[in-house]
Amino acid sequence: EPAVVLDDVTKTYRLGQPIDALSSVSLSIPRGSYTAIMGPSGSGKSTLMNLVGCLDRPTEGRVLVDGRDVAGMSDRERTTLRGRTIGFVFQTFNLMPRLSALENVALPLVFQGVRRRERRARARELLDRVGLAERADHRPNQLSGGQRQRVAIARALVADPAIVLADEPTGNLDTATGSDVLALFEALYGEGRTVILVTHERDVAEHAERIVHVVDGELEGIEAVTGARRKA
Ligand code: ADP
Ligand code: ADP
Repeated sequence: EPAVVLDDVTKTYRLGQPIDALSSVSLSIPRGSYTAIMGPSGSGKSTLMNLVGCLDRPTEGRVLVDGRDVAGMSDRERTTLRGRTIGFVFQTFNLMPRLSALENVALPLVFQGVRRRERRARARELLDRVGLAERADHRPNQLSGGQRQRVAIARALVADPAIVLADEPTGNLDTATGSDVLALFEALYGEGRTVILVTHERDVAEHAERIVHVVDGELEGIEAVTGARRKA
């Protein structure tokens, strides 16, 4: 069964004039695949990400994550599914300013009731993996943009999610730093996780296996990215 299925999904925002941010979108994301979602500003990418990430519910249609229908779940069930299955990486990092890198990475485990000693051990492992072992005690404002994004990625991975969702993860980074971050996603894909990233940049999207094009809330097409281009 696929990691995520969208079945004829429509999302309508009713703030004044109702607007269909997504109209009748059907999409299947296989387990272990690497997908980029691409489209201009306002095309519905974030709305799509929020649905895939169980942060929101569709107005019509079904969203299945790991074979389970998100629409039928209570908020609490969705939160549990999200915590166990999905790791989020945001463009703006969303780190807690008063917590150290280590504490930021360990935070999701607090909500899962993991004990302190194990939380810290696991967070250290992840910081090591993203090359930031020496920065464990630094606060976000003592780190560069690229280092902050790596802390955010370590945090997204700390609960060992099968699916990693990233919304413009290189949007605030220079090209070289962005490449390091993309190399990390490549590694996650290499170890069998499902990676989904939203971007408006073609260069970034071409790191994925396939590009899902979204225009005006509709799925315009799915483009396979060839190995040659991925390596280039
Ligand atoms: P089981 O059915 O035996 O419990 P799962 O189907 O949960 O096993 O997972 C089998 C393997 O696939 C595991 O290694 C797990 O980490 C991985 N996996 C599970 N769900 C996903 C997913 N959505 N995307 C990628 N890998 C997944
Ligand atoms: P993208 O991520 O591609 O820029 P979004 O998914 O953020 O696109 O937005 C798609 C459309 O839905 C836009 O027209 C946007 O203004 C509208 N929209 C997004 N979120 C909301 C909201 N919470 N309330 C009302 N309209 C929204």
